[in-house]
Amino acid sequence: MADMTPCSSAAAGPIPLGEPAARRSLQARVVWGSRVVTVGGDAPVRVQSMTNTDTVDVIGTAIQVKELALAGSELVRITVNTPEAAQAVPAIREQLDRMGIDVPLIGDFHYNGHTLLTQYPECAAALSKYRINPGNVGKGDKRDRQFGMMVEAALRHDKPVRIGVNWGSLDQELLARLMDENHARAEPWEARQVMYEALIQSALDSAGYAVELGMDPAQVLISCKVSGVQDLIAVYQALAQRCRYPLHLGLTEAGMGTKGTVASAAALAVLLQQGIGDTIRVSLTPQPGEARTQEVVVALEILQALGLRTFVPSVTACPGCGRTTSTTFQELAKQIDDYLRAQMPVWRAKYPGVEAMKVAVMGCIVNGPGESKHADIGISLPGTGEAPAAPVFIDGEKALTLRGEGIATEFQAIVDRYIERRFGAGVAKA
Ligand code: SF4
Repeated sequence: MADMTPCSSAAAGPIPLGEPAARRSLQARVVWGSRVVTVGGDAPVRVQSMTNTDTVDVIGTAIQVKELALAGSELVRITVNTPEAAQAVPAIREQLDRMGIDVPLIGDFHYNGHTLLTQYPECAAALSKYRINPGNVGKGDKRDRQFGMMVEAALRHDKPVRIGVNWGSLDQELLARLMDENHARAEPWEARQVMYEALIQSALDSAGYAVELGMDPAQVLISCKVSGVQDLIAVYQALAQRCRYPLHLGLTEAGMGTKGTVASAAALAVLLQQGIGDTIRVSLTPQPGEARTQEVVVALEILQALGLRTFVPSVTACPGCGRTTSTTFQELAKQIDDYLRAQMPVWRAKYPGVEAMKVAVMGCIVNGPGESKHADIGISLPGTGEAPAAPVFIDGEKALTLRGEGIATEFQAIVDRYIERRFGAGVAKA
C-alpha cells in the first residue's frame, strides 16, 4: 500500500474562507453630471465595455451605449479617431442625456489624441475619461510633447486618464532598448519576460510623467493588456506589486464565443481572486448576429461567480445525466433563468436585494433535494423512473410538491410570490 502519511482527515484548524484578497489601489472618480463612478480602493470592481459603431453615427452610437449601459456596463468607451468623430462626441453625450442615460463616456485615442483633445474642447469636456496608448502617442521627441498635450487636456477639463498599454502596439523604442539591455546580461531573460517588462515600464513611465505634469495619481488608471492568459496573469501580478494606480483589467483580443469567454474568465478570475483589478472589460469578438452586450453579460457573470458582486439571481442547475433522459429540467432551468434576467430592470428597484437570491432547478432525486435546500427556492424534478412529482423547497424546507403538465408555470408563480413576500415593499418597511 502506498505511504499515506502526508494525508490527514483531522483538521489542524478551520479551513480559510474562500474569498478574494483585498485590493490595495488608489481610488479614481469618473464623473458625468451627478453620476460618480468610483474605480479602485474600496469601490466594487467596475464593469466597462466599448462600442463597435462608427462614432460619427451619433444615433447608432448612442443607442449602443444605451444598450451596454442597460446591460450593466458602468463605463462605456467609444473610439475617437477623426475630427468628425470628435465633433460627434458632444452630440452623442447630449443624445444619451436626453434618453436619461448618464453612463460616463471614455474616449479611446490613438495617434492624434493630442490634436483632437486640443482642437475640439467640447469633445474633451463631453468625455469623462481619456484612454491614452503610450505606444501610439508619437515617436522620438514628439512623444513626450504629444503625450503632454493629452495630459494637459485632462488637467484642463478635470478628467482622469487611463494609460492603456497593449502588446499589439507596444512602444517599439522602449522594447528595443530593453532587448539590447537584456543581451548584455550575463544571464539573459527570456524574450517574453523582456516583453512583460516593456509593457509595465511603458505604463509606469507614462503614468509617472502624467503625475509629474500635475495629474493626481489616483486619477491615473493603468492597463497592460495581452492576449495570452498566462501572460496576462504574470504581467498584472508584477504590475500590482509595483504600483497603486487603479488597474483596468482585461484580456485583449480574447476571441469569439466559448473560447473568448473561457479565456477571459480564466485570466480575470485568477487575478481578481488575488485582489488585482479594479475595473474589467471582456473583449469578445461578437459572433454573427450576437449582441454587443454579450461582453457585458460575461463580465457580470465573472464578478458574480467570484462572489465579488451580485447582479441577477443565480440559477443552479445540474448538468443532467443518464438518470434524467427528458429535457424538462433543462427547459425549466432556462425558462426560469430567462425570466429572472428579463425582470431585473424592474425588480432591481422594486425588490432591493433580489439579485442575491439563489434558485435551484435540479434533474433528479440524487442531488436535487440537497441542492434545492441550499438555494432560497428550488425544485427537484423527477428523474427517469421516479414518481412524477417535483418537490419544491423554500428557505431550506420542503414546502409543497408539484405534479402534472403545468409544473413550469406553477413554479414560476411560486418564485414570483416568494420574491414579493421576501423582497417586496412591505418587507422593506417592516
Ligand atoms: S441531480 Fe440527478 S439528474 Fe442531475 S446530474 Fe445529478 S444525478 Fe444526474
